[in-house]
Amino acid sequence: MRFQGDACDVAVIGGGVVGMSIAHGLSAAGLRVTVLDEGDVAFRASRGNFALVWVQGKGLAMPEYARWTLRSSDLWADFAADLTAETGIDIAHRRPGGFALCLSEDELEQRARDLGRLHNHLPGHVRLEVLDHKAVKAILPDIGPEVVGGTYCPADGHVNSLRLFNALHESARLRGVAYLPNARVRAITPTTDGFRIVSAAGDVQAGKIVLAAGLGNARLAPMLGLHAPVRPQRGQVMVTEKLAPFLHHPLVNLRQTDEGGVMIGNSQEEVGLDAGTSLAVLGDLAAQAVRYFPLLARAQLLRSWGALRVMSPDGHPIYDRSATCPGAYVVTCHSGITLAAAHARILAAHIAADSWPDTLSPFSARRFTDVQAA
Ligand SMILES: Cc1cc2nc3c(=O)[nH]c(=O)nc-3n(C[C@H](O)[C@H](O)[C@H](O)COP(=O)(O)OP(=O)(O)OC[C@H]3O[C@@H](n4cnc5c(N)ncnc54)[C@H](O)[C@@H]3O)c2cc1C
Repeated sequence: MRFQGDACDVAVIGGGVVGMSIAHGLSAAGLRVTVLDEGDVAFRASRGNFALVWVQGKGLAMPEYARWTLRSSDLWADFAADLTAETGIDIAHRRPGGFALCLSEDELEQRARDLGRLHNHLPGHVRLEVLDHKAVKAILPDIGPEVVGGTYCPADGHVNSLRLFNALHESARLRGVAYLPNARVRAITPTTDGFRIVSAAGDVQAGKIVLAAGLGNARLAPMLGLHAPVRPQRGQVMVTEKLAPFLHHPLVNLRQTDEGGVMIGNSQEEVGLDAGTSLAVLGDLAAQAVRYFPLLARAQLLRSWGALRVMSPDGHPIYDRSATCPGAYVVTCHSGITLAAAHARILAAHIAADSWPDTLSPFSARRFTDVQAA
């Protein structure tokens, strides 16, 4: 048996944006952290996402999730500034407010009704504005004539998510977090003083363990008396050549990056572990984008890709600590960019302190099993 370095205080399984955000917070609490990550064969939502830090419409069916998302969004500017100061990497976080554009009156009415109910229960700075064509055009002058209006929320923003990912890894390196690539975890056994983790890169002994392995959590969680019933949901995205700045607010499905390219997305497909692309879906996304902004008809598409979301049955995060294996936690969600600040600043601090406030209980996976048992 080979041991990877000294025993650590906490092992984080998964080096995606969720695992690295948690590792960031744990190292800030002064803990010795080891991150075990899979190799290049892994599915990695963290490398294929749309990079929104988004509040609008989040938590329609779960007010705690709406409040949690907002807390993260409120922490983001400070979190981004600290990451940049520490690593020198500009992650281009902006919070100019975001839009969802509608192409029919019915769509706008329905959206205003559903989201209005939710946002009425949130603080004033996340008020939802429902705007007609003229009001949207005053802010987004390049919209096409088919846009009947849209909803706007001032709390929405976006970031350069690949640079965020890079900055989290760089911060981990600077703080002495041990990052083990090609370390697919095969087995985890509770020991008298924590956990023994058997991985492809050797064994690791840790006082605590956080499962943050994205889709891999479904297999790992039962080893620790936890439950993480996540499934893949594919999103396809494409990006154009760099264009002169014309869009200063992100849309829920289209945004101009800090580098100038326009990202167009993003489908929701139940296709299992297929991270490929299809011309039919990409064609529909492109056609819709041109209806929003006719100038995009002339833009050259550079790249398209598919990536798999890490989706729980109700779409909300799963945060749990094990009742049978004290010191074991699971953290998984489908909005890991938006929630990065809350994961690093709040959730990691609770894991470090072994405190689990009532505000986290609604996110337990027991909500799925309790419903079945009822
Ligand atoms: C198309 C698309 C658009 C998105 N848009 C947004 C958005 O705009 N805003 C937003 O907030 N979120 C968005 N997301 C979601 C966001 O990308 C994810 O929530 C986030 O990346 C999940 O990160 P993760 O670390 O949990 O998972 P992953 O990135 O999948 O990382 C999991 C890691 O765990 C490792 N792993 C798995 N099994 C094991 C094992 N047994 N042992 C060791 N390591 C293991 C893998 O190697 C991988 O590195 C989007 C996702 C997609 C797919």
